[in-house]
Amino acid sequence: MKKQTVINPLKIDKNIITRIPPSPTGLLHIGNVRTFLFNYFFTKQKNGKIILRMEDTDKKRSKKEFEEHILESLKWLGLSYDGEIYRQSERTDIYKKYLEKMIEEGSAYISKEDSSEDKRAEVIRFKNPNKIIEFEDTVRGKISFDTTELGDFVIAKSLEEPLYHLTVVVDDFEGEITHVIRGEDGISNTPRQILIQEAIDAPCPQYTHIPFILSPDRTKLSKRHGATTVTEFRDKGYLKEAVINYLALLGWNPGTEQEIFSLDELIEKFDLTKIQKGGAIFDIEKLNWVNKEHIKLMSDEDFRNKVLEFLPEEIKDLVNSNEKVFKKLLPIIKERIEKFEDVVEMNQVGDLDYYFSQPEYEVEKLFWKDETDSVLLKKRLEKIIEFLNEVEDFSAEKIKEKIWDYASEEGRGSVLWPMRYTLSGKEKSPDPFVLADILGKEETINRLKNAIEKIDTNNQITQGI
Ligand code: GLU
Repeated sequence: MKKQTVINPLKIDKNIITRIPPSPTGLLHIGNVRTFLFNYFFTKQKNGKIILRMEDTDKKRSKKEFEEHILESLKWLGLSYDGEIYRQSERTDIYKKYLEKMIEEGSAYISKEDSSEDKRAEVIRFKNPNKIIEFEDTVRGKISFDTTELGDFVIAKSLEEPLYHLTVVVDDFEGEITHVIRGEDGISNTPRQILIQEAIDAPCPQYTHIPFILSPDRTKLSKRHGATTVTEFRDKGYLKEAVINYLALLGWNPGTEQEIFSLDELIEKFDLTKIQKGGAIFDIEKLNWVNKEHIKLMSDEDFRNKVLEFLPEEIKDLVNSNEKVFKKLLPIIKERIEKFEDVVEMNQVGDLDYYFSQPEYEVEKLFWKDETDSVLLKKRLEKIIEFLNEVEDFSAEKIKEKIWDYASEEGRGSVLWPMRYTLSGKEKSPDPFVLADILGKEETINRLKNAIEKIDTNNQITQGI
């Protein structure tokens, strides 16, 4: 048996063409998206071309809706490709020509099958020359494989039904693909594909196999670990910039401290040779952090629009009726959220509505700790109103300045707690100065007056008047 070594001859750095070849047999997984991104950064950096093709040879499992999901995901991320997208299912004639030629030349043959399963009489097999294939992988280095163990593998069910190994090699050849950057599950396919390349006289592209994305329990990341598609992350209010940034860091880093990157920076700094060998663990906390960092980089206008997009309808009406308060509330929201879906929760726990309408609360709650003297409580609230009336530039800072000494004398909790509770009706909320600032002078004083009225009414009830 003749054994021969083939070493990848191509180390091209110009006229680079890469490909994004998803199989539309399921929703596009973030692992695939990360592979796309690595292709994208690399190709754009080298001013190359990137081709999108649908590997839909599996007729039963390929579905239009999955193709649409692929396109929708790429569109949301803003990743473009060159030329027209094409489908392998539309290229049957092309593969057929290759199959016929291979049969004619003896590198493939029709073989009788006795598979009772699909009652198929014949398949087309590749005539394995049985040799050692060696190729240079960017991440793993030299990989050597004895193809003898593969036997004469099937490359088509019939002349009209080519299978993956053949279609991928033909398409990469015809598309003049120079670099194949794909998931590490592609490693075991590479020897077969190199054999076919040799048979049809196609050059061998440079291979880069990227390690898997793993879940925190080190198993392959799947649905049971949470969201696995970028559209789910989009719907939860993650920014595309953050999703791209985070996925880029799964298996790659620039070797510096920098962790927050724009797409342009990733294109500039990405380096195929710095991809790590081990699996990269998906860490939702880290994604949240990256997302928050990108939220901080948003313009006020963009941030406001995004919050509005996620706010539930009932609160949106309130917001629209009080633009001034909403504007001042935005920095508080920015502080609180990691992703935009969090505003829904803020609303659910009642951390938004009190900014727009007077809160409901029980009078007893206005007393600081075990204080009970309602006359004193009233006096303090009146005093606060007096101070507030004197504040001209009604900002948190100025309000604090005005009230602070008095609060320190009386006891801070005794003054600031009822003030804060009056304004928010919540045990937890921003401090009373910030609240007053957001609500504005008139509304703040109104709420304090209301509290005093409530105390009076309550006294009358308890005293039976
Ligand atoms: N269609 C394959 C997949 O979605 C891609 C294989 C390749 O990149 O060669 O996994």
